[in-house]
Amino acid sequence: MAAILTVDNINVYYGSIHAIKGISFEVNEGEIVTLIGANGAGKSTTLNTIAGLLHSHTGSVTFLGENLGKVPAHKIVSRGLALVPEGRRVFLQMTVQENLEMGSYTQPGSGISADLERVYDLFPRLRERRKQVAGTLSGGEQQMLAMGRALMSHPKLLMLDEPSMGLAPILVEQIFSIIQDLHRSGSTILLVEQNAQAALNVADRGYVLETGKVVTTGTGQELLENPAIKKAYLGG
Ligand code: ATP
Repeated sequence: MAAILTVDNINVYYGSIHAIKGISFEVNEGEIVTLIGANGAGKSTTLNTIAGLLHSHTGSVTFLGENLGKVPAHKIVSRGLALVPEGRRVFLQMTVQENLEMGSYTQPGSGISADLERVYDLFPRLRERRKQVAGTLSGGEQQMLAMGRALMSHPKLLMLDEPSMGLAPILVEQIFSIIQDLHRSGSTILLVEQNAQAALNVADRGYVLETGKVVTTGTGQELLENPAIKKAYLGG
């Protein structure tokens, strides 16, 4: 299998805090890969570094054969790498449809209406609410909108930071079922989650992070069955 993303020995600091201590992993085309770990393990920092929002002092991030080290964040999106950040960050004053249209800024003019239809097919709830202002959507709907907006840029790799955070169980199920639909349609996904059970259920492979390091790796199934992982992350 071909790796589309290779993270090799990154070290990231916030001032004197050493948040990421030599993390390496890869994502192959068509895979769902998950990074799981407790609060503060370094999951969001890793995604933000890949997206070019933070810088690594060492090592490299290679996406589709290109070292992203010197590529600015806004150009990284047009290379095909989209991040749905923690807390969604949709444009609250804009309508659902305007938010989605903002997602296609890397391909202005080209096939926006077909892309909108594709997103609305995936998230029928968004079609119903296309004229509604995003600030009045529920948390789950905002998560759908943030994912839909990222999909408008036709990402070759979709990175999701805690998509289930703060959602009621029924919505968590819906979001994970959509993640599986995307996987079946060939999308490649890097998923960061505190909900380890849900993430490992859908993931091809996972990496467990503790205090800025990868401590265990395996297939989703192997990690679900690993006694230490069960004890620490799966409630027994
Ligand atoms: P969570 O699920 O709580 O977001 P996480 O695994 O995503 O956890 P990170 O947010 O990546 O963890 O944080 C990794 C470490 O870096 C933590 O010790 C955190 O306190 C620290 N950290 C994160 N952001 C900053 C910041 N802006 N300034 C200083 N330290 C930070």
